[in-house]
Amino acid sequence: MIDLLVVGGGPAGLATAVHATLAGMEAVVVEPRPSPVDKACGEGVMPSGVRALRALGLELPPGHPLRGIRYVRGPHHAEAPFGDGTGLGVRRTELHAALTRRAEEAGVKIVTDRVGEIGQSADSVTAAGLRARWLVAADGLHSPVRRGLGLDLPDRRPRRYGLRRHYHVKPWTDFVEVHWSDAGEAYVTPVAEDVVGVAVLSTRRRGYDEHLAAFPDLLDRLDGPPATSVRGAGPLRQRV
Ligand SMILES: Cc1cc2nc3c(=O)[nH]c(=O)nc-3n(C[C@H](O)[C@H](O)[C@H](O)COP(=O)(O)OP(=O)(O)OC[C@H]3O[C@@H](n4cnc5c(N)ncnc54)[C@H](O)[C@@H]3O)c2cc1C
Repeated sequence: MIDLLVVGGGPAGLATAVHATLAGMEAVVVEPRPSPVDKACGEGVMPSGVRALRALGLELPPGHPLRGIRYVRGPHHAEAPFGDGTGLGVRRTELHAALTRRAEEAGVKIVTDRVGEIGQSADSVTAAGLRARWLVAADGLHSPVRRGLGLDLPDRRPRRYGLRRHYHVKPWTDFVEVHWSDAGEAYVTPVAEDVVGVAVLSTRRRGYDEHLAAFPDLLDRLDGPPATSVRGAGPLRQRV
């Protein structure tokens, strides 16, 4: 019997498994997708997140330093530098590759599989053919494990959706910019010397370009070609 079975090898699952291994436990991560996993994300790691990555003993992946946050609406803006260090704008694939490397180096076993049914007894949990003392459900926002255990609650608040794309544009700022419009928000994160990511979040379901049209000033800045295709996620709210 192993100590810890982690369902899901995203950032939360891999970080949990590394911490468990550093604490002397035998941890196995079960994840169906090969590394590096990409995902719709704003890709801004706050200073506390950078410290958390360092605490894992991880070599920081390549990215772009983030020094604060700026909120923009038309001609108005408000901004503040981070008071507790520097953040990191980082492509999701770079972050995932670095976390996977660190997990493997720490001795975490990563099994390519999807967890289905989970069995429980007084002293163990069984899933994906493995028996463990504990199981961590790190299987994402819509956690099938949580749903399977009947822990989801109905959520009647408006549903929000996220879409993101990257552009070959030299970053014009080392702040995360949050642009507001009546239709939603656009998060702009520099992630490399020549790439910015733009994630739009809204309750309205429509195409990425339609969303972006609500931010004409931002659109003017994005004068380089797209660097990635559009990737989406949602709905983003869950009650547990
Ligand atoms: C548009 C958008 C913008 C965002 N911007 C930011 C940001 O700027 N900064 C920030 O910090 N956060 C941001 N977030 C949030 C961030 O993406 C999530 O908090 C983060 O991905 C959560 O990581 P996780 O490991 O919990 O889940 P995930 O990254 O979703 O990983 C879950 C993993 O579980 C696996 N899995 C699912 N089902 C099973 C199963 N049955 N068996 C085994 N494995 C399974 C999946 O394959 C997946 O790899 C954003 C999110 C969105 C949608």
